[in-house]
Amino acid sequence: MRFDEKLEALKTANLHRTLKTLSAPQGRRTVVNGKEALLFSSSNYLGLAEEPGIIAAAAEAAAFWGTGSGGSRLTTGNMVPHMRLEAVLANFKGTESAVLFNCGYMANVGAIAALCGEGDTIFSDSLNHASIIDGCRLSKAKTIVYAHNDVNDLAAKITAARPVSGMIVTDGVFSMDGDIAPLADLADIARKHNLLLMVDDAHATGVIGKTGKGSLEYHGLSTTDVPVVMGTLSKAIPSEGGFVCASETICDYLKNTARSFIYSTSLAPGTVATSIAALEHVRANPACVRTLQNNIAYMAMRLREEGLFEGSAETAILPVIIGDEAKAAKISSALFDNGVFVPCIRFPTVKRGQAMLRFTVMATHTKDDMECAVKSLKNVMEK
Ligand SMILES: *Cc1c(COP(=O)(O)O)cnc(C)c1O
Repeated sequence: MRFDEKLEALKTANLHRTLKTLSAPQGRRTVVNGKEALLFSSSNYLGLAEEPGIIAAAAEAAAFWGTGSGGSRLTTGNMVPHMRLEAVLANFKGTESAVLFNCGYMANVGAIAALCGEGDTIFSDSLNHASIIDGCRLSKAKTIVYAHNDVNDLAAKITAARPVSGMIVTDGVFSMDGDIAPLADLADIARKHNLLLMVDDAHATGVIGKTGKGSLEYHGLSTTDVPVVMGTLSKAIPSEGGFVCASETICDYLKNTARSFIYSTSLAPGTVATSIAALEHVRANPACVRTLQNNIAYMAMRLREEGLFEGSAETAILPVIIGDEAKAAKISSALFDNGVFVPCIRFPTVKRGQAMLRFTVMATHTKDDMECAVKSLKNVMEK
């Protein structure tokens, strides 16, 4: 086990990564490795990480409930805020019930492995998030990967595998490409073959749909169409936590069987209160969602005008595909020298030779910020 040699190999392949340290909040401007820069890669999409009312709610809850939860949900760690957050989540997503997990990763691995097992089949989009892939592996179900957003390939693969029991799982908004799953078609296929449909709303919550409720609102679907909606509280909702919104029965089942729910100390009450305050803020201020959506449309239009982008103009993730890993790293670093922080995303997060600069837009970005980011990128790429 020569870890030094393995690290050398990563460096030679331009795949070695290092941590960059922020010494300021996740605002439109921040400080990265001691240098001030415009931030175009945060998932703080609604810009709520510094919202005074939400910070006050977090501080108040920590003062009242203490800092740690002291136990798992099924022992001593189920406090009033945890119950309240689940009610707020179910209400926000329009489902009967909700289960809170400690993060989105744990929600996916816990829920997928609980809902499917040996003898079942999971149909999974080829670009699904790593936490979905790991959930499939943990479940011991047979996993069949279908071509990205390709409903014909999915239908053919289900037909070939029949008879099957199990589920179809997809990102609602894909985390690297920023495109949207064809959820209405997936719901038709799931219904036809009696498969459960699960959507990961990590990048949809607070971003798509008229009031930012996510995939179901965006597509005009109901929980009958998509019975399992998973999400995170760490992106547009600037806190920590993951969730599954579903029927009372599914949620009760998850609380009894999902190992990442059962065998981990529950979230700190201050964190839980942060999520409640943020969800209530979004509900009371749909204008912040509209501001984000307008910024996304503007930034996507400008990147397209410059010939740098071809993807969806409806989600906050706008990837500029570079390809070569070394070239992407160089562009990212030159961009940072110009005062714009966008780390490059490379293998294994995306395929080899598909390295990208993954721009994300926030509601707090100004037109000048976006103009500056696009012009800097254009300059750097022409060099
Ligand atoms: C970020 C993300 C997760 C994991 O959520 P965390 O709360 O950060 O653990 C799950 N699925 C997708 C699609 C994500 O982008």
